[in-house]
Amino acid sequence: MNQNEPLGERVMRLVHDLSRHTDGPGLTRLYLSPAHRAAAEATLRLMEAAGLEARIDAVGNVVGRFGPADGPALLIGSHIDSVVDAGIFDGPLGVVCGIVAVEELRRAGDALPFAVEVAAFGDEENVRFPTNLSTSYALAGRYDPAWLDGRDADGVSLREALRAFGGDPDGIAGLARRPDDVVGYLEVHIEQGPVLEANGLAVGSVSGIVGITRARCRTTGEAGHAGTVPMGMRRDALAAAAEMVGVVERVGARREGTVATVGSARVQPGAINVIAAAVDFTLDLRAPEDPVRAAMVQDIEAECRAIAGRRGVGFSFEPFMDSPATPMDAGFVAAFEAAMGASGAPPIRLPSGAGHDAVAMATLGPAAMLFVRCRGGVSHNPAESITAEDADVAVRVLIGAVREIARRRG
Ligand SMILES: [Zn+2]
Repeated sequence: MNQNEPLGERVMRLVHDLSRHTDGPGLTRLYLSPAHRAAAEATLRLMEAAGLEARIDAVGNVVGRFGPADGPALLIGSHIDSVVDAGIFDGPLGVVCGIVAVEELRRAGDALPFAVEVAAFGDEENVRFPTNLSTSYALAGRYDPAWLDGRDADGVSLREALRAFGGDPDGIAGLARRPDDVVGYLEVHIEQGPVLEANGLAVGSVSGIVGITRARCRTTGEAGHAGTVPMGMRRDALAAAAEMVGVVERVGARREGTVATVGSARVQPGAINVIAAAVDFTLDLRAPEDPVRAAMVQDIEAECRAIAGRRGVGFSFEPFMDSPATPMDAGFVAAFEAAMGASGAPPIRLPSGAGHDAVAMATLGPAAMLFVRCRGGVSHNPAESITAEDADVAVRVLIGAVREIARRRG
């Protein structure tokens, strides 16, 4: 490393270097793809150059350790897989910040009372296979073996893809860490929202990660001729669904910190001169606290049923995902905030509306996240952008938090 290169510039350079590994279009790096393999090998080399004892593990994570070979480790991580045509910072920023933080701790000669490990997870976006944070759950000891039978759009099973990648399906269970071996988990990630930018702040600590309910809904009416069935005699499934979408929007705004979205709807038969017979639509409902989410879900279901009753249409509501909210560890959040204070970054706490590897890692031990301002709040998009100045603040706050956790433990 160039000792005189500012940390933020170094972070930006390494993130850009990693972005070369893509299967296209743009940056596209799905779990266990050739681009993922290339990025994992590049990350391995980066870790080794930074003085970490590193390897690519059975499930495709790159994990490097700095410090004593035995005893507990503080993990710093994020992911190197991406969505299709992604931005370059979502994931790799956190991995690179971890590596640069270790380089700096090593250069400064810090004597820490624990090892530091950097983890580059491979399956955070859950784009290719029907999984949920599978690679971080492997470390947390909660890997669901049924995931190995999941198939991608080409019919390739995760098990086959993992073998082709050079992984070892039979070795996954052995990756599970014991809680005693883990001090906790820190993750730096772009905010993927506009709050930090609106407040003129480089970084913010995450208070918690929202819980998510997803459901499939269906209204069932009666098809009829658009010209001959009088308005008062219709059972229009689309008009009913439209009212329900309004309910979802209103109820989503009723409570602090909640969001509610109908992101997809399909109308049957879907013709210009036919009254709609049925509409299938999706719900994505998120809240920072589980009781608040439960109340929102209950309101939406009850108000939609009332609409269906008044209009004489059928209504079905099938929840298929219930991911609990994940609070961040109070002690680790305080460590981030102490580090922010020390580096002149005003403390701000914000909830995460998106899921992260920290959800899996929080099942193993204390976890906390640091968000970094991104331009326009844009992510999952090639326009994703941060500044070297903000990257510098982020890596310094991360180093400060590691030292703070060490001080409290030491
Ligand atoms: Zn991410």
